[in-house]
Amino acid sequence: MAGTLYIVPTPIGNLGDVSPRAREALEDCDFVACEDTRVGGKLLFLLGIKKELVSHHEHNKKQSAAYIADRISKGERCALISDAGTPAVSDPGEELVAACHKAGVTVTPLPGPCAAVCALSASGLPSRRFVFEGFLPDKGKERKERLSALASERRTAVVYSTPHDIARDLADLAASLGNRRMLFARELTKMNEQTVQTSLAEALRMVENGEIPKKGEMALVIEGADEAAASENAFWADMDVQTHVAHYVALGFSKMDAVKKAAKDRGVPKSAIYDEVR
Ligand code: SAM
Repeated sequence: MAGTLYIVPTPIGNLGDVSPRAREALEDCDFVACEDTRVGGKLLFLLGIKKELVSHHEHNKKQSAAYIADRISKGERCALISDAGTPAVSDPGEELVAACHKAGVTVTPLPGPCAAVCALSASGLPSRRFVFEGFLPDKGKERKERLSALASERRTAVVYSTPHDIARDLADLAASLGNRRMLFARELTKMNEQTVQTSLAEALRMVENGEIPKKGEMALVIEGADEAAASENAFWADMDVQTHVAHYVALGFSKMDAVKKAAKDRGVPKSAIYDEVR
């Protein structure tokens, strides 16, 4: 009989955030899969739980996912934890969950701490819809493309960063997105928690002069683009109307649907687009 993979969120800093269900899952499982066995071992020690730890991290994730999924499919119950927060959100847990689905074993998620949601909830920015960006790509074309997509993104965005990258991330975000409002969330739930409602340029200044220390865990919640910025940075901004419609036709839309989509992008009546392409 197949076992189960339990996805068990762990604290992002405050041990009091281990839920009774998370504790129970860790107590009842056959083994725990974790990113770093030292970090996972310390948490279990603090909770007074003794379990076999199996490492599943960035550099062994393919092999360990296959190994763990195989054990679960033979009937064991595995609790997946990450170094902090919700496993599989911006961490290698994602591969293990995919491997378990592929192996046909049950995946049971438990709700719990997640830095992105915790920061978003304190941002005061529109949060009915938002995008989670995780870490920005390190360099090159991928980084430029991501920054340019964010420049026209209307929804509030959550970005993760690190003390090493924070100054460069803020400088690139301010250059690409303009000086948007944001919440800088540092060390959430910990003793030195710091949340600063500020702007991208001001946050960069504060990081550079030490008002926001380049230390600890950091998440940024950034205001979405306003309508003007979204159109100015949109993928179609440099296209004429014909090319814009042809773009959608090439994606497989009928000419009429392509006209409707281009009209919606540009915020004009579809007759105005249709007049130009018929
Ligand atoms: N799975 C985790 C989650 O649910 O939030 C995220 C894992 S990701 C590898 C680690 C990043 O999350 C950190 O670099 C930081 O950007 C963010 N983070 C984690 N703990 C945080 C905290 N206490 N305060 C602010 N950001 C935090």
